[in-house]
Amino acid sequence: MGVYKNGRRKKNRDREKEKLMKDKCVICNTDTQYDEFDHIDMRYFYVEGCGQLCPKCFNDIENKTKKEDK
Ligand SMILES: [Zn+2]
Repeated sequence: MGVYKNGRRKKNRDREKEKLMKDKCVICNTDTQYDEFDHIDMRYFYVEGCGQLCPKCFNDIENKTKKEDK
């Protein structure tokens, strides 16, 4: 008898790990909302060949690219 709850300890550990594993913006080094292991297809503001950007830097690059096109 007595319910044995497994995995409680493990969960806490995972949470701590998660904190440390957030991907940072490659330009301004701000923490993004994404984990290092999140698939890039699931992310916004990810530039292939460049890396994870924060929304602000992503917009900056978008604007620059548009100007260069002209
Ligand atoms: Zn940034």
